[in-house]
Amino acid sequence: MSKEKKAKANKKLQLAFYWAASCGGCEIAVLDIDEKILDVVAVADILFWPVAMDFKYKDVEAMKDNHIDVCFFNGAIRTSEQEYMAKLLRKKSKVLVAFGSCAVNGGIPGLANIANKEEIFNVSYLDNPSTDNPKKIVPKTSVKVKEGTLTLPEFYDTVKTLDQTVDVDYYLPGCPPTPDLIMTAVGAIVENKLPPKGSVIGSMKSVCDECRFEKSEKKIKEIKRVYEVDKIEDKCLLEQGIICMGSATRGGCDARCLDANMPCTGCGGPTPNSLDQGAKMISALASILGIEGEEKMSDEEVQKLIDQVVDPVGTFYKYGLPSALINRRVMK
Ligand code: SF4
Ligand code: SF4
Ligand code: SF4
Repeated sequence: MSKEKKAKANKKLQLAFYWAASCGGCEIAVLDIDEKILDVVAVADILFWPVAMDFKYKDVEAMKDNHIDVCFFNGAIRTSEQEYMAKLLRKKSKVLVAFGSCAVNGGIPGLANIANKEEIFNVSYLDNPSTDNPKKIVPKTSVKVKEGTLTLPEFYDTVKTLDQTVDVDYYLPGCPPTPDLIMTAVGAIVENKLPPKGSVIGSMKSVCDECRFEKSEKKIKEIKRVYEVDKIEDKCLLEQGIICMGSATRGGCDARCLDANMPCTGCGGPTPNSLDQGAKMISALASILGIEGEEKMSDEEVQKLIDQVVDPVGTFYKYGLPSALINRRVMK
């Protein structure tokens, strides 16, 4: 092997991690791979990881384009700073991975698309019981003080997914992705066995396929929230009237919520080839609720059934409103 080829083969992978509109759980998930992190650092250098090491944006700006081999980007895009970093890291990375539900589908922060900036600032800074703000001060992008001008990123009206902002190479779903899934992705990168660009690194099955319960086509009469059920039986939760998103959700998590008798809330994102996770679940629910016979029901009866879903957007689009077919409330 020539000296040059040997040096290339021995060169460690250059990795980066970044967080945008996120809760920090995806960063913890990276640490959750436990001692396997030692295997990662044996083959990779971490060039940029703001949550763990003191890097500055200027360090990234100074890098040559494509200097980073793989960047794992978690969090949705909600501010101008996050948009800038997404574009910068895209330019500096050969491979960009949307890591976790927030980057892949918009995640929990994406639920804010039922409001706009004005409404969110109103609740956060003005009109809530624990805030005392007589001068009604809300964050501004620029404020002059005697020492100079202070600036803040612009807060956008709409939360976007990473791929609504920049080109994304791979998707790693989950809130957060499981340690096994993270190691699968890292293994594929290290061994240069990545699937075709645009692939979701995850299961091709649904959560129902991985669930210990059998799902039957049994009809239900009413929908209940978990706390309204006296005793959860050891059988499919949907049959017990609890909305479980398993049939509309990509597996890969071994249906872990079901092992704790908690319904799947959908963090794996839509099943493969599904256009809209929420629409798929609504259709499944309608069929087991018997709404397909609605022509024989009065409007009130249909409405009564529908009203049992207390929080439709939060139930059907908990992790993916920005990537849904209808991805925000239309504001006047
Ligand atoms: S995907 Fe989940 S764990 Fe990761 S940042 Fe978003 S909310 Fe947090
Ligand atoms: S609907 Fe939920 S409880 Fe029923 S089989 Fe699917 S994942 Fe399991
Ligand atoms: S069961 Fe559903 S909510 Fe729970 S980890 Fe799996 S995909 Fe996420």
